[in-house]
Amino acid sequence: MSHLYDRHRAVIPDWVALYYQQPIEITHGEGRHVWDADGNRYLDFFGGILTTMTAHALPEVTKAVSEQAGRIIHSSTLYLNRPMVELAERIAALSGIPDARVFFTTSGTEANDTALLLATGHRRSNQILAMRNSYHGRSFSTVSITGNRSWSPTSLSPLQTLYVHGGVRTRGPYAHLSDAQFIEACVADLEDLLGHTRDVAALIAEPIQGVGGFTSPPDGLYAAFREVLDRHGILWIADEVQTGWGRTGDHFWGWQAHAGNGPPDILTFAKGIGNGMSVGGVVARAEIMNSLDANSISTFGGSPVTMAAGSANLAYLLEHDLQGNARRVGGLLLERLRGIGASVPAVREVRGRGLMLGIELVRPGTDEADPQAAAAVLEAAREGGLLIGKGGGHNTSVLRVAPPLSLTVAEAEEGASILEHALRSV
Ligand code: PLP
Repeated sequence: MSHLYDRHRAVIPDWVALYYQQPIEITHGEGRHVWDADGNRYLDFFGGILTTMTAHALPEVTKAVSEQAGRIIHSSTLYLNRPMVELAERIAALSGIPDARVFFTTSGTEANDTALLLATGHRRSNQILAMRNSYHGRSFSTVSITGNRSWSPTSLSPLQTLYVHGGVRTRGPYAHLSDAQFIEACVADLEDLLGHTRDVAALIAEPIQGVGGFTSPPDGLYAAFREVLDRHGILWIADEVQTGWGRTGDHFWGWQAHAGNGPPDILTFAKGIGNGMSVGGVVARAEIMNSLDANSISTFGGSPVTMAAGSANLAYLLEHDLQGNARRVGGLLLERLRGIGASVPAVREVRGRGLMLGIELVRPGTDEADPQAAAAVLEAAREGGLLIGKGGGHNTSVLRVAPPLSLTVAEAEEGASILEHALRSV
């Protein structure tokens, strides 16, 4: 293992983030478990950063992939591609966006890049509104709309970005406000920003911030924002890369918690739809999608093998009501983790929705983020046989729990017990 780590360090850039002092080499998975090269088995509460949506090695997906690979792996979007059209039809119907068109990419970054291309072209402006503490990807344009400074390198941005309050609820100037007051204050902030600028193309926002530490605004915030945006003709891009496909339990899409004024103008997705295969994409109504005034193509976006995986995965997800499972099992897990958190002084808050749960750690007795404690809990959980993630703002002090949506009650209980032990040992 350490031999592989040495080889990794010799060829992979330093800025590629790795978990653990002795990073794990994962060799295979099944259901909600993965195994490492030393034969250790782990309960996977991070699902390949929320990409393993249904389960590891789901037979339905594996079969669809191997059958499609046996026919043809790639032909390019220059020719008709049945698996792509079929998946696009299903996603268009599920999106809630009228007269929807779907464009497939290979990642969330590229999906957001495409959304920015559409919005800036449609509105003839390179000004974007984004949320504080947000994460939207690693390309030149998406780092420049990423409010989370630890993921936003200094670069000369092609876009002008203005950051809006509302991403972080529990900290900062509005922490003491009720939901209604919070929404009012964020809307006032937005109005204020728009009073000083003209011709903004779009607001991009994650309905629940992922990398930022699973922070949710109160339901209805984006509906309230929408009223302001509509008055200015500004588009709303919902980045559903982490929140789509039923992950949040209550809703199929995160935007549905903010549905006052209907669906977003543009929706981006990735991660879970391919169950680990590289599928991302953009949905927008035809008027916006077709407004691009040049040819465009993604050589690998929409490739038949990834599309077959997406369709098989989506069918499984819907047939087995994994959104309902996320709501039920996630609800139990949230309650259990809150119970544990109440007696661990380092736990400031346990929050989340469905199977997207965050545990924020602080130095006991203070409000100060504690990234060392988060790193130590990750190590201790690993020792106990559990993989979790971490995230947060400048200091990554939020433990992130996001297992595959097929998690059972027994596995939720097992994971919670390991996490409890890890939290108490640090
Ligand atoms: N948007 C959100 C909300 C994300 O969480 C991520 C990745 O974590 C991205 C975009 C970028 O996706 P990818 O890593 O597939 O490029």
